[in-house]
Order: sequence, then structure tokens, then C-alpha cells
Amino acid sequence: MPTTFFSDFALIGENLDIKEKIYFQVSEEGLIKEITTQRPKNSDIVEFKDALVVPGFINAHVHIGDSFAKDKGVNLTLPEVVEPPNGLKHRLLKETRVETIIEGMRNGFKEMLSSGTTTFADFREGGPDGILILKEALKDSLIRAFILGRTTPDFNTPHEILKIAHGIGLSSSNLYNDTELEMFAIFCLEGSKIISTHVSETEEERKIAFERFKISDIERAIKILKANILIHAIHADNKDIELISQYDVPIVICPRANGYFGAGFPPISAFLKNKIVLCLGTDNVMANSPDLFREMEFLFKLFRGTNGINMLKSKDILSMVTINPAKALRLDHLTGSLAERKYADFFVLDLNSPNLVPMENIYDSLILRAKSENIIATYLKGRLAYERRYNS
Ligand SMILES: [Zn+2]
Repeated sequence: MPTTFFSDFALIGENLDIKEKIYFQVSEEGLIKEITTQRPKNSDIVEFKDALVVPGFINAHVHIGDSFAKDKGVNLTLPEVVEPPNGLKHRLLKETRVETIIEGMRNGFKEMLSSGTTTFADFREGGPDGILILKEALKDSLIRAFILGRTTPDFNTPHEILKIAHGIGLSSSNLYNDTELEMFAIFCLEGSKIISTHVSETEEERKIAFERFKISDIERAIKILKANILIHAIHADNKDIELISQYDVPIVICPRANGYFGAGFPPISAFLKNKIVLCLGTDNVMANSPDLFREMEFLFKLFRGTNGINMLKSKDILSMVTINPAKALRLDHLTGSLAERKYADFFVLDLNSPNLVPMENIYDSLILRAKSENIIATYLKGRLAYERRYNS
């Protein structure tokens, strides 16, 4: 028998429209069969009173593998922590027991589910073996991982990675010559896979690209790698921004991680003026909690602090964790909004929470006031993936 969920309020469709007294009928496969204001017959009903149902968040850029090493590199520079092959993260990943890495990942999944995230896009280090470790960790969780694997130095693995992952996620395009990047592009195109890379996270990264290849790492990522998604682009210049806009490549921005590493902040207002699609990510768990509520509030205030009010609305930020990443990852036929024939991926927010009452505007409250403690439950494909208990 299908399950029906009822909520006093829900955010429906790609436009996140606020609807009242809504029933969602969900099939046994976890797809939303019908969204209606009529109480369906012949269905078990799970009721959420004084609650808001929100589409499950999508964290568009995470490194879940370093969850076991929280804040170990807090006073180190970005290259000292994350640069392959000898940055602290890579040394720790090599010398740490697999069981410890998996335990860290599982804590990361719990933190994400408890803060409303139902899908995350992971840049998984360690080649095919690294992907298998993540898949082992995922066995106990309903969370959905979109895995972008990384080639190992022997360089024989792109096809092995693409057999078991959703695509490729490069640390930096600077590590590969043009022929290698073209090969990645062809492999991904042939397999209908996603290809992504970090770009212009530091000035140094850009300098190396110009010295070695005479063009920016962003231009190489777009024209040679044919990247579907760019990560960071903190130091993108006007030429790069025009190119990103022209090729319509989404960018994942990770402002809290940028702050943590002292890397600067991306030119978000220029991205918006050029109509570039933006997604939000939380980046390395060792440096930053994978909690999109914190990321959204930080972005809102950082942006206002530097650009003034009225250019970036709360609802725009909500799109960066729902429909925008769903489209960027080509998952929008399955998730990213609550609509018929998509998966019933959502979380339930308790509107009686003291930090939310009184509520002037649902979108602003979600960005500026809501926190994971207000989430009663999180569902994937209509199945309970997380439920708050009084002592958790
Ligand atoms: Zn990253």
C-alpha cells in the first residue's frame, strides 16, 4: 500500500512555492505519485502538524573521506592541508585504518541527514579503492552519494573509476597535460558521466596554469576538460567569468571553507550579474561541517556585508541547495524539488521551535533562523532516513 504524508506547509516544485495542507502520496518505489489538498483514500497517512516539508538539500561539493580528521589542519595553509600528494589530508588518508575512515564517513552521513541533506556530491580521493571504501560506508545509510572519483598517479584508472562512479572530480587541472584532460573529457562524454575540477582556489594555482599552459585553469577546465561543474573559482577574472557564463557552466561555491582556509571569497555578485548558476558545497569535512544551514546563513551575511542588500534573496540561496545542484548533477528528473514522479526526498521542520516563532517569512527563516535541531525527520524515497530523538 502506498504511504501518504500530510504537512500543514510544504515547499512545492522548482520555484519552492509555499503550499498549505498538502498530501503527498508516495509509491512503494519512493516516487511521489500525487501532490494534492484532498485526503487520499486507501493509504496510510503520516501526519506532520505545525510543520514545514522542505525538499531534501543537495550538498554540491564534499570530501567526506577526511571526516575522521576534523580540524587537524586548523592552523595550516590550504596547500599544506589539501594539496596532493603530500598535504596533511593525503598523508592522513594513507596512514589511517580503513575502519577509522569509514567511521568518519558514517558520522558525516548522520550529520548531513540530521541537517536536511539527502544527496551529496563527493570528490573521492584514492582512485577506485577510495570509491569502494565510500560504498562500503554507504551500506548502512539511506543517504544518496553522487561520487566523483579521482585518478591515481599511475594514470590507468579513468575507465575503472567511471565503471563504479558518477564521474570524475579532479584536484586541479594543472596536474594534467592537455592530452590527458582531453582523454578525461572523452571518457566522461562517452559514458554520459559528469566531470568536475577545483579551479582558481588560490592565486598560485592560476599562476601555475598561466606559466605551464599560457591560459587560466578555468579556461582549460572549460575548453579542454569540458567540465560540467566548476568548484570554487575564487580568483576568476572578468574574462573567465564571461567564459563561464558563455558556456553555461555551474559553479559550486563553498564560502565557509574559503574562509576557513583564508583563501578569499569568490566574486559572487559578478557571477550573479552574468547569470551563472550557483550551487553550495561545504568542501572538506576536516575543515568544515557538512551542514548546509550554516553554509546558507554564512553566504547570506557574507554577501550582504560586501554587496549590500537586495541582490541575493533567501529563496535564491535555497535554490543553490535544491534545484540548482540537481540540474548541475543531472539529477533533476529524480530529486531537487517536490514534484510528481520525483523521489520523495524531504525533511520536516518543526514550526513550533522557539527559534522560529514568530515567523515573518518562511524563506528568510530557513536561511537565517532554522538549524538542524528543528528537523523532526528526514526521508529519502519516502523512507525514514533520520529521526530526531530528544537526547540527540
Ligand atoms: Zn574541494
